[in-house]
Amino acid sequence: MIEVTKVIEWDMGHRVPNHKSKCRNPHGHRYRLELTVGGDLEAAAGNSSEGMVFDFGDIKELMIQHVHDVIDHGFMIYEGDTIMRSFFGNCHDDEFCVLVVPFIPTAENISAWCYQQLRPHFPDSVDIVNVRVFETPNSWADYKP
Ligand SMILES: [Zn+2]
Repeated sequence: MIEVTKVIEWDMGHRVPNHKSKCRNPHGHRYRLELTVGGDLEAAAGNSSEGMVFDFGDIKELMIQHVHDVIDHGFMIYEGDTIMRSFFGNCHDDEFCVLVVPFIPTAENISAWCYQQLRPHFPDSVDIVNVRVFETPNSWADYKP
């Protein structure tokens, strides 16, 4: 098996409601997703993807469509965060981007969310090997399905 990795970034607000320190404040990050997929090389002669695991351009398109475009410049809020829900509760999608999720939006949980967003869109022959989400340049989480 050969692995390839593609990277995208997006900007997003969040907070960690029960955090003992400053992460309980609403704030934002430039998130970075490094998606590593693996599989056998495409062998069909003359195929556009001959010699590839999965076309980098196609990987990027899936990452943009199912992660970046879902939440870029938006706010990800835990459904149990009653304070944030009260701020954003009456907002509609066409006003601004708020995504309510069933988990606290830590880098760890966001990496698992990215996996769930992406897995259905890759063929069975391609494995998602690692989903790395950077919350800051020095802090990241790895979700290994
Ligand atoms: Zn944060």
